Amino acid sequence: MQERSTLVKNEEESFEMESVDRIIWSHKKDTGPVVVIFAGIHGNEVAGIHASRRLARSLSENTDLLNGSIYMISGNLKALREGVRYLDRDLNRLWGEVSNGALENESNDLDSPELKEADELLATLNEVVNEHRFVTQDLKFIDLHTTSAESCAFILFNDTLENRKSASYFPVPQILGIEETIHGTLLSYINDLGYPAIGFEAGKHEAKSSVDRMEAFLWLYLHHTQVYTLKLREVHYYEKMMHGDSEIEDSYYEISYHHYVDDASQFKMKEGFLNFDPVYKGDLLANEKGEPIYAPKSGLIFMPLYQSKGNDGFFILRGRSAFWLELSSKLRGSFINNYLHLLPGVEKEQDRVFTVDLKVAKFLVKEIFHLMGYRVIRKDPHTLLCYKR
Ligand SMILES: [Zn+2]
Repeated sequence: MQERSTLVKNEEESFEMESVDRIIWSHKKDTGPVVVIFAGIHGNEVAGIHASRRLARSLSENTDLLNGSIYMISGNLKALREGVRYLDRDLNRLWGEVSNGALENESNDLDSPELKEADELLATLNEVVNEHRFVTQDLKFIDLHTTSAESCAFILFNDTLENRKSASYFPVPQILGIEETIHGTLLSYINDLGYPAIGFEAGKHEAKSSVDRMEAFLWLYLHHTQVYTLKLREVHYYEKMMHGDSEIEDSYYEISYHHYVDDASQFKMKEGFLNFDPVYKGDLLANEKGEPIYAPKSGLIFMPLYQSKGNDGFFILRGRSAFWLELSSKLRGSFINNYLHLLPGVEKEQDRVFTVDLKVAKFLVKEIFHLMGYRVIRKDPHTLLCYKR
């Protein structure tokens, strides 16, 4: 434990957060895929910035070997400079409002530092997209994070077939369907623009190994997108580095429970949980406002909150079988899509959007919509809203 927690700061020489720009590094080419990397959307997660800088140093000397474009973009600059997750609002939870025009609203003078950050990020994002979109549709995005608990590396993404494909190359656990419990993430915003976007979580915030795993992930990502070709032994080397000594199975998981916290200062997770530790229904997991919080179901604990900011107390995961994944990828383009409105309690709202009346449809409806590739969110206590991703 001691060794793994070696501070990142000791390792990275001459690192000044003040010197980080919105674009950490970029290389534009007129042909080939475009890879966009976001780092530090949460200001206390600096490993992505370190890893991007390392990668940039290596790539700067080898730009003639690049078969595509790369943009490394820093996230919450003000929070990064202060070393906190965010100042006023979580920059990775407000993109739903951005989609709904929060930044264009005249009455909104962007007095939140994070709305200003979002405004700048969006301008940068649009610039990059406009730079390339008339030449190629092959733009791919990744978002780099770390966790407050000790953890192996893992990938999380909204469950689209394109995202599954992007994520499938990496030897780490994959968490599907995050968008149904966490709203307003940058990944969701980018998915909604029509581009694949996956998140990489490298491990604990301060661990040196988090920077190494991120760097390994980035090299492999460039390799699998054919932007930069690695030698086979390099692929193995980076895969080993990403995986570390983790014993968690590299399979698919989905969130089966989300414990939302409205005030993190009133929430105290029981000490000692590591990401993916098994928990059983009834286990004491945390204390909140003086009340014990027990596990409502069995599964694997995921992203337990060990910091004073954030709204996600913990998640519980369950495994997803390969059979289900295969079945769902086959069904997504199939004719069955045309008959969903015939299910009891299901009504078609508009093209690719259905509502489900839970008083009528109690059984398996959510599962069926999941299989067909729909995003399912709760509209009110009795209604689900399902829309095609
Ligand atoms: Zn984060």
